[in-house]
Amino acid sequence: MIKAVLFDVDDTLIDYGKAERDGITTYLRSLAVACDLAAAVARFGELQGYYFDRYLAGLIDYTGQATALAAAMVDWLELSPPADPYDWFLGYRRHYEASLTLFPDVLDGLALLGDMPLGIVTNSDSVYTRVKLRRTGLLARFDCIVGVDTAGVSKPHPRIFHSACAELGHLPAVVAYVGDKKLSDAQAADSAGLHGVWLNRADDGAGGLTDLRQLATALELCPDQSRHTATVAAAVQSGVIGAEVAT
Ligand SMILES: [Mg+2]
Repeated sequence: MIKAVLFDVDDTLIDYGKAERDGITTYLRSLAVACDLAAAVARFGELQGYYFDRYLAGLIDYTGQATALAAAMVDWLELSPPADPYDWFLGYRRHYEASLTLFPDVLDGLALLGDMPLGIVTNSDSVYTRVKLRRTGLLARFDCIVGVDTAGVSKPHPRIFHSACAELGHLPAVVAYVGDKKLSDAQAADSAGLHGVWLNRADDGAGGLTDLRQLATALELCPDQSRHTATVAAAVQSGVIGAEVAT
């Protein structure tokens, strides 16, 4: 019996990819930067991934990765170096934050979970994650926010999942974890002793839930038994949830 549910944030609850693309596009336009916007958006995405991976590996802190990202992007754009690249990053971040939106299934999907204790486990900074959740109206719904800064490790390390379970006061065996990455979210949570649930946002036919409104049923929290039975059977068959969740 599931007693609490943990969530990933980016590309699970918040449409991170869209916010990043829209954020850098509107920022460069606001600066009147002369460039191929499509190429700049693609390059920004590459650089963001590179420096954020270094943050996740513990090689650099959150501010450091943001500063390095901004410096590299300004260099790629062949602009004059800013006095403080972090200020340039903060300019981008204001546009990024203005572009933050929830996926359309999130509010209904969370509502179907009733008063179930909920938490966040994110491969990001917990302080800034609170800002994002507050901005999108979700912050008050979560009982704990665990990030790389608070856990000291990133997914797929089990300790980041266990930190959140401890904060919620439940053993991992009765906690579900929902994320958009099959390996580093769902399977990592399974390996840590939780019930991993893959939210396949791409809906590419490879399995997983494709809509958060399916979650309550898949976790046996939905009173509609006819829908419940079919959804759970499909979820188990595709490996989205373990058979023990369905029994
Ligand atoms: Mg994600």
